[in-house]
Amino acid sequence: MKMTFLENIMSQFNAAADVLQLSDSDMEMLTTPNKVITANLVIKMDDGSFRMFPAFRVQHNNVRGPYKGGLRYHPDVDLEEAKSLAMLMSYKCAVADIPFGGGKGGIEVNPKALSSRELEALSRAFIRAMQCDLGPEKDVPAPDVYTNETIMDWMEDEYSRLAGRETPAVITGKSVKNHGSLGRDDATAKGAYFIIKKAVKALGMEGRKLTVAVQGFGNAGYNIARMLEDDGNFTVVAVSDSKGAVYIKGGVHADSIMRHKKEEGMIDGIYYKGSVCEEIEHKHMSNQELLELDVDILIPAALEGQITKDNAPNIKAKIIAELANGPVTFGADRILDKKGVLVLPDILANAGGVTVSYFEWYQNMHDEKWSRERVYGKLRGKMEKAFDDINAIRQKRRVSFRTAAFVYAIQCIMQAGKGKHWP
Ligand code: NAD
Repeated sequence: MKMTFLENIMSQFNAAADVLQLSDSDMEMLTTPNKVITANLVIKMDDGSFRMFPAFRVQHNNVRGPYKGGLRYHPDVDLEEAKSLAMLMSYKCAVADIPFGGGKGGIEVNPKALSSRELEALSRAFIRAMQCDLGPEKDVPAPDVYTNETIMDWMEDEYSRLAGRETPAVITGKSVKNHGSLGRDDATAKGAYFIIKKAVKALGMEGRKLTVAVQGFGNAGYNIARMLEDDGNFTVVAVSDSKGAVYIKGGVHADSIMRHKKEEGMIDGIYYKGSVCEEIEHKHMSNQELLELDVDILIPAALEGQITKDNAPNIKAKIIAELANGPVTFGADRILDKKGVLVLPDILANAGGVTVSYFEWYQNMHDEKWSRERVYGKLRGKMEKAFDDINAIRQKRRVSFRTAAFVYAIQCIMQAGKGKHWP
């Protein structure tokens, strides 16, 4: 039977709990949210009617610092799933060594069905309902599925209005003109890029051009493809979106594909590179075929549950970097580990986004403005240290990279919680 997202995360947690021989009360403390706030938001619609939208915020654990995590607008937002995502955020913040705990929130709404005015009213209503539980030193939300910098700007403005003073550090992912950070736009991919470079070195794969396949061509997938191409040591041979994949043996050229996607609404149909009308030999394939390509590095950057027990035996990549949250299931992880595939887990591989969110918060708290280069430099330091610390645990404990990352995160949280939750 297929595992749910929550069951999957709990299996990952349990593997680390076994290694650390945690007690039942430790496990309860580490997996249960401190607080769940729910509200029903009422707004006036453009047609004069009033509608109610259920909303929630999960605050998982704050022994390392204020809660931090995204706000999702979706008709199917699920409180139980949000609890496990908030827990993952606590671990991700610990892995990246940023002083935050995990949070996650959502509003049950189809944002595409709302006008811009209605969306703004809803976003401001969320802040009014949650204001007592939010704040730069309490809980700092960020964008997630179907929320963006405009929504973060509205929320920051509403919070500041209620607080009676400008409070940019209450929320991250704001526009750069409104106290956002440079480098936040491609931070997730940048963090993954640093981690992939470390993994390549650790596995002794340097010295030849490595082939890469990327599933998903949105913010995370496009940017990582572009960065690896620019590096010069990688050839991105395949990319995909929800409609299918394209394979070009000599390399795809991410910018041309993005241009085509913007013009035509799909990546398929790429025949030319750059502005040169030189026909490129290419092949169309399904997402499943892309995952099973004979490449050195596979980057799932779209959805959860893409590599399962069913297709894991067919995976040929030597490194998998999880840019998406939960693309490799727990069962698949076991198979891949036995095959010697290095799976760089989401709580490490996509932690660049929350790390630069922390830099944004820090700049706001200290009234600073960092250059893009400074942001990348600091991100690189955090990512490389996290890789080294987790790799050391992996080698010492002889566990998978994912279990090592969970062990590391749990140890950090328990250490910080001494005297509060743990003796
Ligand atoms: P996005 O919406 O910008 O892009 C998603 C891409 O996935 C799109 O190109 C879409 O066409 C593609 N896609 C959808 N269904 C697909 C399918 N069945 N097969 C192949 N491709 C499919 O999203 P994003 O911001 O790039 O996020 C992607 C993943 O990375 C998500 O799991 C997200 O949670 C995770 N993530 C993103 C960030 C970030 O900062 N962007 C941070 C952490 C984690």
